[in-house]
Amino acid sequence: MDLKGKRAVVTGSNSGIGLGIAEELARAGADVVINSFTNRDEDHAIARDLAGRFGVKAAYVQADLSKGDEARALVARAVEAIGGCDILVNNAGIQHVAPVEDFPAETWDRIIAINLTSAFHTAAAALPLMRAAGWGRIVNVASAHGLTASPYKSAYVSAKHGVVGFTKTVALETAGQGITANAVCPGYVLTPLVEAQIPDQMKVHNMDRETVIREVMLQRTPSKQFATTEQMGGTVVWLCSHYADQVTGTTISVDGGWTAL
Ligand code: NAD
Repeated sequence: MDLKGKRAVVTGSNSGIGLGIAEELARAGADVVINSFTNRDEDHAIARDLAGRFGVKAAYVQADLSKGDEARALVARAVEAIGGCDILVNNAGIQHVAPVEDFPAETWDRIIAINLTSAFHTAAAALPLMRAAGWGRIVNVASAHGLTASPYKSAYVSAKHGVVGFTKTVALETAGQGITANAVCPGYVLTPLVEAQIPDQMKVHNMDRETVIREVMLQRTPSKQFATTEQMGGTVVWLCSHYADQVTGTTISVDGGWTAL
């Protein structure tokens, strides 16, 4: 699929799913802005690597998405760096696990700010650019937890359900304007963070790698397989293609059957 000439901003993209999405967008020819809250040499090296491998413009822009003004400034700085923002992928997210009565209030606020409110700020900044261009794509990375719940993840589940509702609202406000808004809902994706948990889980449960993946980590995943960051990226590229012109206001699950259960 050819996204040559399109300019994409992917939040939280110096690792994991965001990096996989940025990579597939660049492979399809889009110019990309990589983002996180850090400002390390290796963050900028990711942008240089994508530019070198795929012959696109790529830049790293630091912004702490727990802060609304920085989320909005990310879009403005992306325009300076790569010339526009035709594709906005809201991917940055954090997690915390605790029962409701023990859940630290400041952690609740931080999860809502990064996982939900930042998407409002970046979309508010990007939509006027998309309307002026008569074309745009907003893809919000929600989760199977945007459609179902698990105990002890109240803030995350609330934020991800909120992301799905926000996505539908943006889709209605932009319908017929060449702009689409959709949410991708991953189940369990094999990111470096998840990979790093496998040895610990093996020890805790006294199981071999395959058993702990199948019985513990992918207990709720009927396929018993992780999704990959490349598959996440491919889903976003498809949503950005002309094939998906009439796909808006919906959720695409990439979860091995989790939400069919
Ligand atoms: P990850 O920790 O590798 O990536 C999270 C990204 O968000 C990182 O780039 C991190 O730097 C960035 N980030 C965190 N706080 C930030 C802040 N204040 N400002 C800017 N950036 C910030 O995790 P991941 O698994 O790749 O998760 C990416 C998204 O996918 C998240 O929204 C997560 O909820 C969602 N998700 C992941 C899975 C999974 O199995 N890995 C499943 C469902 C949904």
